Amino acid sequence: MGINRRGFIKVAGLSTLAGLTGKTALSVLADEEAEQVVRTGEALSAKRWAMVIDLHKCQQKNGCTACIDACHAIHNVPDFDNPKDEIKWIWKEDFEGAFPNQDHEFLKEDIRHATPVVFCNHCDNPPCVRVCPTQSTWKREDGVVMMDMHRCIGCRYCVVACPYGSRSFNWRDPRPHIKEIDPDFPTRSRGVVEKCNFCAERLARGQIPACVEACEEKALVFGDLEDPESEIRELLRTKHTIRRKPALGTNPEIYYIV
Ligand code: SF4
Repeated sequence: MGINRRGFIKVAGLSTLAGLTGKTALSVLADEEAEQVVRTGEALSAKRWAMVIDLHKCQQKNGCTACIDACHAIHNVPDFDNPKDEIKWIWKEDFEGAFPNQDHEFLKEDIRHATPVVFCNHCDNPPCVRVCPTQSTWKREDGVVMMDMHRCIGCRYCVVACPYGSRSFNWRDPRPHIKEIDPDFPTRSRGVVEKCNFCAERLARGQIPACVEACEEKALVFGDLEDPESEIRELLRTKHTIRRKPALGTNPEIYYIV
């Protein structure tokens, strides 16, 4: 039942995307292009979605939380105001916490003191997916690691399996703690896990992820890793990038320019 339902949703989703775009891949390069797809209502698709984050640009506006605010507002992420119950889709870590063992005394000063934004890495080899007994989390063809809160039984195996702390568990009913409920996105209930979904609902509407759109410094770049002409491929060719805990073999799809 679970597999059939998931298969149906996946096929239906892909058919919808194909019907809307008639494309197999679309690079998200420039603002004009993004605006164009938003205008025409075309869905965005890719062979493998990924993100590059420029820590130098992010640091230029130290203390900025525009990406976090945008994400949490549109996804109805509650604010419990205490770390024990905290639900987070995207947050900031200090450099050593985000990139253990990658700090050294000769690292550029702005990077050493950076507080990188971190979230689900949409790993190419996601351990969270392997351990889920109900298949409520799965990896899409385009690399997005999805989460179906309706099928989640709250066992929290995925929370333990994720080496990045990217998943949060709702110990309490989140609804009373949402500042302003966005009716376009479902709220969750007590007893389920949640995390970043690479704005899958926005991609289906032809919009880039909310965090990318909200960043005035253009520090976040989203695109198709399989498209050699994409902006993220150009950045990966020309800039020095690192990923979080690469030795674990999860193959994170978030790259940081340092
Ligand atoms: Fe899963 Fe964590 Fe990787 Fe996201 S970062 S895909 S939650 S293991």
